[in-house]
Amino acid sequence: MSPLRRCLADDLMIKATGHGHQSRTIKGMTLSRTFLQDIGAKVADKKCFCFATDKATRSFLVRYDWDGQGLQIPSINNFRDIGTHVNLTATNNGKTLTDRMSKARHSTNRLRWLPLPLEFKQKIVQANILPAGLYGCEAAWVNKSCLKAFRAAVANALGPRSSRASNEVVFHNTTASKDLDPGTYILLQRVLTLRRTLSKYPDRISQAKSIIGNYNKELLQDPSTSVLSTPQGPVALLMHSLQECGATLKDDLNIVQPNEPNIDLWHMPWQHLKSAVEEIAANARTRVGTVARQHMKDLNEIDGVIHKKILHVLGPKERKIFNHISSGAAWSEEHKLDIGLSDGKCKLCGANTTDITHVTWECEHIHIHRHIKPYVILITRACQLTSNMACPKPCQVMFKAPIGGRDRPMVRTLVPTPAMLLVFPSTMQMI
Ligand SMILES: [Zn+2]
Repeated sequence: MSPLRRCLADDLMIKATGHGHQSRTIKGMTLSRTFLQDIGAKVADKKCFCFATDKATRSFLVRYDWDGQGLQIPSINNFRDIGTHVNLTATNNGKTLTDRMSKARHSTNRLRWLPLPLEFKQKIVQANILPAGLYGCEAAWVNKSCLKAFRAAVANALGPRSSRASNEVVFHNTTASKDLDPGTYILLQRVLTLRRTLSKYPDRISQAKSIIGNYNKELLQDPSTSVLSTPQGPVALLMHSLQECGATLKDDLNIVQPNEPNIDLWHMPWQHLKSAVEEIAANARTRVGTVARQHMKDLNEIDGVIHKKILHVLGPKERKIFNHISSGAAWSEEHKLDIGLSDGKCKLCGANTTDITHVTWECEHIHIHRHIKPYVILITRACQLTSNMACPKPCQVMFKAPIGGRDRPMVRTLVPTPAMLLVFPSTMQMI
């Protein structure tokens, strides 16, 4: 039962578990020191530290005299190791990751002011800022307030420059191949790391399943206890991330979420797993947005595939306008009235405005400048069109150019359908 040794570059870790772990650790450490001194190396005593999960061992190691001449090595309970942060306490601590996120946040703030096209900035965030700022997030606790600030910095760099913009919509409006939300990145990395680890070490599958089973059992026995608020280890960290998105990891390695098909983490093809996990995070993000923002009320889900297709056919300028309006970044006259900066009337046509739909669809002054004019559609009162039923017979429908337009009205005989009400919500009138 010799202690376990791990050597990485100029680092040496000696680890022992079970009965007699104290004596075996000390023996291993002393022999290693002697060996290194014998081959002419110098051990950096001030860089050495020891750690223990057992409280008694920890206090014993603090007092232990290592060389018989009063050399003491400090005993610590959290430290940076192989890129991430090892935490041996029951509290959440991921200092290494917090420092990385802070550094990445500062880089993102600088990126915001660089005179680069938006597509370039998205590529920099995807290839540089997210991997650097969240390196090691699979195995370390992510500080909530630091993540919030980092997320806001990324949204500010990629989205409209307005304090009103919704971060949730800004992340939906990116055209990069991957979701650029740091929250999505963390969830994805945690899922993929578990899958990779289990593929490489199949003997760990039963261990992972048993950890998931134990956490789920505790949650089932007493749902009020937030056992996942202090997750221990990568599997529990993944369960915590999924819980935040309204999903659960079952001990058969299925990700279960209400009203959605299960995602089999172990058997799903690798290329589909990524998009399926990104969708979990994107749906959770939309739900947050609908609660937080009035203009997104009743929007339960955004179809990511269609949304991306629409964004790709827009030009850079149009995409900016789309992003500005859909994220709620625009200030309507009504919003300005609330803070005393407007009289509530449209500056261009003088009409009373309620929200941003006036400028987007209804302003007659803006219609004059449009190449494709939104026609005013006039249908006769005899038409029996309702919001959920088409008119039973063909009717005469007059398409009239808005005020300022020079086109002549055109009359067509067709069957008015409810779809027309959706496409032309504010320009359809009965005559
Ligand atoms: Zn107007």
